[in-house]
Amino acid sequence: MTIAVQKFGGSSVADVEKIKNVARRVVESKKRIDHVVVVVSALGDTTDELLGLAGQISLSPPEREMDMLLSTGEQVSMALLAMALNELGQEAISMTGQQVEIITDTGHTKAKIRHVGAERVVQELRKGRVVVVAGFQGVTSEGEITTMGRGGSDTTAVALAASLHADYCEIYTDVDGVFTADPRVVPTAHKIEQISYMEMLEMAATGARVLQSRSVEYARNYQVPLHVRSSFHPGEGTWVKSEDDIMEKAIVSAVTHDFGEAKVTVVGVPDKPGVAARLFGALADANINVDMIIQNVSENARTDISFTASKDELEKVKKVIGELVEDLGAEGSKLDDNIAKISLVGAGMRTHPGIAAGMFKTLADNDINIEMISTSPIKISCVVGREDGEKAVKVLHEHFSL
Ligand code: ASP
Ligand code: MG
Repeated sequence: MTIAVQKFGGSSVADVEKIKNVARRVVESKKRIDHVVVVVSALGDTTDELLGLAGQISLSPPEREMDMLLSTGEQVSMALLAMALNELGQEAISMTGQQVEIITDTGHTKAKIRHVGAERVVQELRKGRVVVVAGFQGVTSEGEITTMGRGGSDTTAVALAASLHADYCEIYTDVDGVFTADPRVVPTAHKIEQISYMEMLEMAATGARVLQSRSVEYARNYQVPLHVRSSFHPGEGTWVKSEDDIMEKAIVSAVTHDFGEAKVTVVGVPDKPGVAARLFGALADANINVDMIIQNVSENARTDISFTASKDELEKVKKVIGELVEDLGAEGSKLDDNIAKISLVGAGMRTHPGIAAGMFKTLADNDINIEMISTSPIKISCVVGREDGEKAVKVLHEHFSL
């Protein structure tokens, strides 16, 4: 007996025609798969529109009310899809996060799943129905509605797949799968057939936008195979699974880019114990995610510390740094939002020396200056000037013959 969870993103259910199209696809797959659970995102840009409405009323609306608002988007699409399925003669029933018993913590707007009940889902599946679940939303043990952060429907789908011991989880989207680079930057980029959870996590963290990072972590923890594929044609997409199950391992799998970060430098901080701890402690207290960090060689007992953070958080960063410069006895701060972070991701790096050298040489040969470097066992990231961003992705993609 096979069970599959299928998730359809916002662009796949953007209007009534597309919803009908999804319904036809679900009916089609129901012929091959015994039990199908569908998770839907909100129609098209609904979530952005709802955020816009809230923004016209308040700059900092209560997060509980944001969740009450944002969770409505997915309830529209789940009901319409259930209707479309019934219209095609396939019995279907829609359910909210609460009805499914997707229990989360109380972190409104970025809640984490604690537990998935899914008893009612199982009962409905046994009746031969397709169950359509609203993505992105859950409920606290006190009955408060929560949402799980942008792109959270991916995580709903994976969590349900784990709880139902589904054979796999399919993520239907408007691209054909996971690519070796963004095809808009590198026209010769191609679809990857299989990739490991770890590589996918690094790709998501370094700028690839196909899957919410948390959903990949969840899939890895519960060993749920993911299939990222197009909702517009039946071709195979990309399978994300455990490294052991991948036969042909690439040394370098992909080049990713992130043009959404800025570099902040705190200049002339005293080189003594505790300074970095205070600086990054203050940023953490303000809930700011810091990515790369570099501390320079010190001269005259002073040093520069640079880090990158998302441009979206720049206002918060400025505020924290403004207060800290004086406190720390630093000479000042600099901000550069004209940067690009370019990363190479590949599980084979662990066992093949020379990948980093090849990356630096390729950039050098193309006259691209590296401003910062960071590595993990399966990733190398370089910060370069924004004007070199696209070129860096192209030349690296070519050099590593992806
Ligand atoms: N509708 C939500 C968003 O746009 C959740 C999702 O699409 O996964 O972020
Ligand atoms: Mg969406």
